[in-house]
Amino acid sequence: MKVQVLSEVCTGHGRCYMLAPEVFGEDDRGHCQVLAPEVPSEHESQARIGAEACPEQAIEIEE
Ligand code: SF4
Repeated sequence: MKVQVLSEVCTGHGRCYMLAPEVFGEDDRGHCQVLAPEVPSEHESQARIGAEACPEQAIEIEE
């Protein structure tokens, strides 16, 4: 699984990195940063939860 954040769409709600801290982190403005674009299999469910929780649909997942 690959994951990316559309930085121009992210508005920094922080839901992704609160719900999926193994996959997403925050930059100094509170916007999302992907910790590793290639998601390890044990963190795939967390990545999906974080993506689904984003109110801006700023997270794209490629299975
Ligand atoms: S939940 Fe969405 S808008 Fe909020 S920080 Fe994460 S990617 Fe950005």
